Amino acid sequence: MEEKYYKKLWWEIILATLSFSVIPLFVLGIVIYQQFSVSYTAKIMDSLKTLAENRCSSVDLFFEERLSQLISLANTHSVEKLKDEDYLNKVFNIIQTRSKSFLDLGVIDHEGNHLAYVGPYYNILKGVNYKNEDWFAAVMTTGTYISDVFMGFRKIPHFIIAVMVREKNRIWILRATIDSDILENIVRAAQLGKKGDAFIINRENILQTAPRFSGKLLEHPITPDFAAASGTQAEELPVQGQDNLFATSVIKNKKWVMVIREDPKEQLTPLLRARFLAALIGLGGVLLITIGAVFTTKSMMKELMAMERKKALSDEISIQSSKLAALGKMAAGIAHEINNPLAVIGEKAGWLKDLLNMEDISHSQHLQEFSDTVAKIEQYVVRAKTVTHRLLGFARRMEPVAEKVNINSVMDEAIDFLENESRYRSIDIQTDYYPNLPLTLSDSGQLQQVFLNILNNAIDAIGKDGEILIKTKHIAKNNEIAIAITDNGPGIPKDMLNKIFDPFFTTKEVGKGTGLGLSISYGIIEKLGGRIMVASEEGQGTTFTIYLPIR
Ligand code: ADP
Repeated sequence: MEEKYYKKLWWEIILATLSFSVIPLFVLGIVIYQQFSVSYTAKIMDSLKTLAENRCSSVDLFFEERLSQLISLANTHSVEKLKDEDYLNKVFNIIQTRSKSFLDLGVIDHEGNHLAYVGPYYNILKGVNYKNEDWFAAVMTTGTYISDVFMGFRKIPHFIIAVMVREKNRIWILRATIDSDILENIVRAAQLGKKGDAFIINRENILQTAPRFSGKLLEHPITPDFAAASGTQAEELPVQGQDNLFATSVIKNKKWVMVIREDPKEQLTPLLRARFLAALIGLGGVLLITIGAVFTTKSMMKELMAMERKKALSDEISIQSSKLAALGKMAAGIAHEINNPLAVIGEKAGWLKDLLNMEDISHSQHLQEFSDTVAKIEQYVVRAKTVTHRLLGFARRMEPVAEKVNINSVMDEAIDFLENESRYRSIDIQTDYYPNLPLTLSDSGQLQQVFLNILNNAIDAIGKDGEILIKTKHIAKNNEIAIAITDNGPGIPKDMLNKIFDPFFTTKEVGKGTGLGLSISYGIIEKLGGRIMVASEEGQGTTFTIYLPIR
């Protein structure tokens, strides 16, 4: 019942401590993580957007440079000169020494005839007519033109930059082609990490550069369709069941869309690491709190139990002592009541004895019988007086006193009390008293109680047929008296030795032992300024030794 109550209390305290500390810890951890996660993701998205914008600017710059190169070439040379392929070759070589961005250069008249060409596809392109090509119509209407990437007559991916020139009454076109690899080189700088990808699509969602993982040049990419994108944007979208981060930005000169794709796992690694770390710290915290709570509660419970036991003990002691006091009073009353009749019986027996000595009776044939009877009466009156005397002594000792005590005679009285019991169980009580043991200022009543407790335990331990040896000694150098009570009972197991002085510890059957004898004795001896020790050998016996200061 008591155990159950403490167990329940233990759980209640632990659960309360845990919920009051772990729940706030969790809430705090989750809130901090959420905040961190939101701001970190926003930062990643921003940097992806910036990257997309930067790459777009680079492509724009590239287009602008190429266009202005062509425009200035067209405006500073007449068609007549450029028609001459030797001359065109010379100009082309000069341009190429600065940068190898043009693949070839061609001059086309207003009817689409290829008038002159320098470049690696001379055999294929010389004399070709472009009149029916889309780009030709476009450049004739808009003046400058940048095409999408296409295969063309040469069957190699490239795109065209062309400018239309009005020269007096003639119209002609200066056209350059650019290898699509160049665009790829610009875009590649944005292919981050192990799984990052970057590519350009046109408004039909056709790839203008070859991506790393997201598809093939001139085909649709394996990503959501960003062909209608405007401005710069970043969002998280699934591709084949996996989340991806995308940033898109539009290239001004061509209205192409730059797409940057990132694996969120790679980009968000620090965030995931932070989450793992937070979880680890949280778990450690919970563990620590739990251990702390368990330990604190345990020691609290221990303290509580000890306190309750102490209280129970002191309650028990006060009940016992009030019982004893009542018993003492009663004993004193009885002793007084009996003493008076005993005195009268004693006196009358004496008178009877005197009468027997008188002449007439001394001749009686029953004289011997009379005189034996009177002697017996006197003997039993003395015996009864001793008992009443002892009862009075017992009653007197119920009050704590300080008196000159002869330990040997207090012990004798205790042995007297147990005489019948020990005889009945054939236990031999031997004494080996120190001669002239000094008297000491103490409380004989309480000492007797201690001796009785220890002797009773010894008798109980032996059961039947055994021996108890009581020794007293004066230890002059410590100015103390030692009283050793040794029995040849079964002894006390080692693991029990430190428990026998605990209140309520008993191995005796219910109703026989209270477990209070030794703890009360311990308290009494301590109060009298002494100490009590036990030594026991299993199977051999037990010795309790009491040391008392001589005062
Ligand atoms: P109780 O006598 O009511 O059991 P005590 O406090 O006097 O309470 O003793 C506690 C226990 O110590 C006993 O139950 C017994 O197991 C053990 N004990 C005490 N004295 C002896 C002894 N002389 N030999 C063996 N065991 C003993």
